[in-house]
Amino acid sequence: MQVTNDGKRALRDRLADRLRHEARIIIHVTWRDLPKRLAVTTLMVGLMVYADRVGAALAVGAVIVASESLFVLIYRHFRSLGTERELSTRLVLANWINNSLSTFAFCAPSVVLASVPSLPMTIAALTWIYGVLVHITNTFVAMPIYNRSQVIPCYLALLVTIAVAAHVEHAPAPLRDWWLLVAFVAVYASNTVQTMTMQRDTLAALDRARDEAQARLRELERLARHDSLTGLPNRPAFEADFVRMQAAHRGGGSSAVMVIDLDGFKPINDSYGHSAGDHVLREISARLTRLAGERGIAARIGGDEFALARPDVPDRETALAMGRCVVRELERTIEHGGIDLGVGASVGVALARPGDRDAQRLIAEADQAMYRAKSAAAEGIAVFDESFAPRLSLDDKRRLLRALSEGEIRPHYQPKVSLATGRIIGFEALARWRRPDGRIEMPDSFLPQIDELGLHRELVESMAVQVIGDLARLRAAGLGAGRVALNLPEAALATSGVRAMLIDLAETVPDAMSNLTLEITEDVLISRSGSQLQDSIAAFRGRGALISLDDFGTGFASFQHLRQLEFDELKIDRSFVAGLCVDDTAAVLVEGFISIARGLGVSVVADGVETRAQEARLKALGCPTAQGYRYGAALPLAETEMRLLAEGPIGAVPTRPVTPPEALPPPAGPGAGDGPRRALPYRRSGSRQTGGG
Ligand code: C2E
Ligand code: CA
Repeated sequence: MQVTNDGKRALRDRLADRLRHEARIIIHVTWRDLPKRLAVTTLMVGLMVYADRVGAALAVGAVIVASESLFVLIYRHFRSLGTERELSTRLVLANWINNSLSTFAFCAPSVVLASVPSLPMTIAALTWIYGVLVHITNTFVAMPIYNRSQVIPCYLALLVTIAVAAHVEHAPAPLRDWWLLVAFVAVYASNTVQTMTMQRDTLAALDRARDEAQARLRELERLARHDSLTGLPNRPAFEADFVRMQAAHRGGGSSAVMVIDLDGFKPINDSYGHSAGDHVLREISARLTRLAGERGIAARIGGDEFALARPDVPDRETALAMGRCVVRELERTIEHGGIDLGVGASVGVALARPGDRDAQRLIAEADQAMYRAKSAAAEGIAVFDESFAPRLSLDDKRRLLRALSEGEIRPHYQPKVSLATGRIIGFEALARWRRPDGRIEMPDSFLPQIDELGLHRELVESMAVQVIGDLARLRAAGLGAGRVALNLPEAALATSGVRAMLIDLAETVPDAMSNLTLEITEDVLISRSGSQLQDSIAAFRGRGALISLDDFGTGFASFQHLRQLEFDELKIDRSFVAGLCVDDTAAVLVEGFISIARGLGVSVVADGVETRAQEARLKALGCPTAQGYRYGAALPLAETEMRLLAEGPIGAVPTRPVTPPEALPPPAGPGAGDGPRRALPYRRSGSRQTGGG
């Protein structure tokens, strides 16, 4: 019972809703047609008077006037409600009854005229009632309930008209009656023309509305697909456009997808403001658009990351040439407000076979290649190939993990010495893998696997824990070892696991950080998660670690970057030291580096010192600290312990601020000013620790 009551109520509510909705439109339409209604009823009343049906004419006229007046009141009330307000049931009902009354008054003239014994009048009666029917059907087509409620009485009126006409004996009509009929039809025709004009206006308005809606839709679509600053497509749009590009070149040659990362963009934003940064991005976008040409696609897929797709790139050589062209074009200076701005670009390329539409995969491949371009390639370009695919098996991973957990990979310690006294002031911990058969593997052979298998956290953790343990053991034996340096490549620091682990370690072993130097490379400064890494580095530093900038001079960081990072030591790369007594440029650069360190108030270590001549030159240039085979290769803990015993105790562990042990000469040489943005011409021949390419 309850259910049926609920069902009935729901039905009633739906019906009431529907009627309210119809009433809104009816009132609106009825208001619009009011003048027309008044005009045609005047015509009909006039015709009835002419046909000698004055009483009926007056009655119909009175009903029409009453109903239209009531309607005006209803309309006023309706307007006063505003668009948001609900129509009351009473108003809906009043309007409906009033309209039915009006329909009745509209049908009446045809019955009245049919009773006149004149054929033209009967024809007029039938034409009229038929017109009323058509009008109601057309006007209220979107209001089915109302439509039926009015059309059915109209048909009844039509039947009555026919019945009345059937009972009248028609006398020959005077010519005047026929002329009147013609005039009546003419008025009818004018009404039709007016309706059609109105329809044309309505259609034009509809067309306009549709065009506007489509334009707005296109604009919304454009906004969703494009980057608002540069106007270039965004990543999803690039992927879609790439599929289209490949489809258009079906049967053509291979194409290329490039991922381009700007080097040195952040400092422009930081130093010259966002308007300069925006200008650079827009200019870069314009250049990429030109490079993409008519058939290619340029897109902005990240803050300072772009993508470029070009059809017809048949081979690796063409891709490399194109990459070089992109780098050259993007590295041209950009003028802004009288200042010459410049950025570098690293380009990773992935080649797509004809028909290959997997844009996501290609972007990922190009991205990997871009990373390699950044970390190693001299020209900032790398093309993705099979060498990127993982070559290591699960077995290799298990073997490495076991080596890490079982302490097969151990730190060996290479001394750092003061050039003034020749005494050890600390060590660098370098990883060595002692295989179960006694063979010792150097980092170059297993670091690429660590990279590839993503075991950075495990390696850093294992090294850090062992170094901290070794230091405690040395201390227990009454031996200070100074600070020990740990290598933290960008690839390791970029993983949040490594950062969290190091913070954890600092928390659980309170003095851990104050005995460590963390050697990071310049890549950290231009890394994609740069600011995050810099925050972590600041946190380690805040807990007492010293930060050393390793392999200085071989990376891509600009001296602008250097100002962004708080660090304590600059480690001149061994390629420069090796050049010291061979090549004058090396001496000038080393001197420049020392001046920079002095200017920044940080210490300097010369890495890879092998000869007495190098040492003498470094001393003359004012370098305070050195490391290299001249002072000893990396040794296992036991031998390090013996060496420390032989040398006598090391002074206290240096803390910040690190004052260079010796006075440094005043700044000189080319490196002292604003340095080069790209890597200096010195590059180490061996591979770097991040699986270079
Ligand atoms: P690096 O940080 O530049 O370390 C110095 C490298 O130079 C060491 O090579 C060291 O043995 C070598 N070296 C020291 N003195 C001289 C010298 O007088 N002349 C020459 N030519 N070389 C010298 P190693 O131990 O093979 O390490 C190579 C690279 O592997 C290191 O370069 C470092 O980036 C990385 N590495 C070493 N241990 C670790 C580690 O525990 N973790 C990570 N992530 N990387 C490590
Ligand atoms: Ca190092």
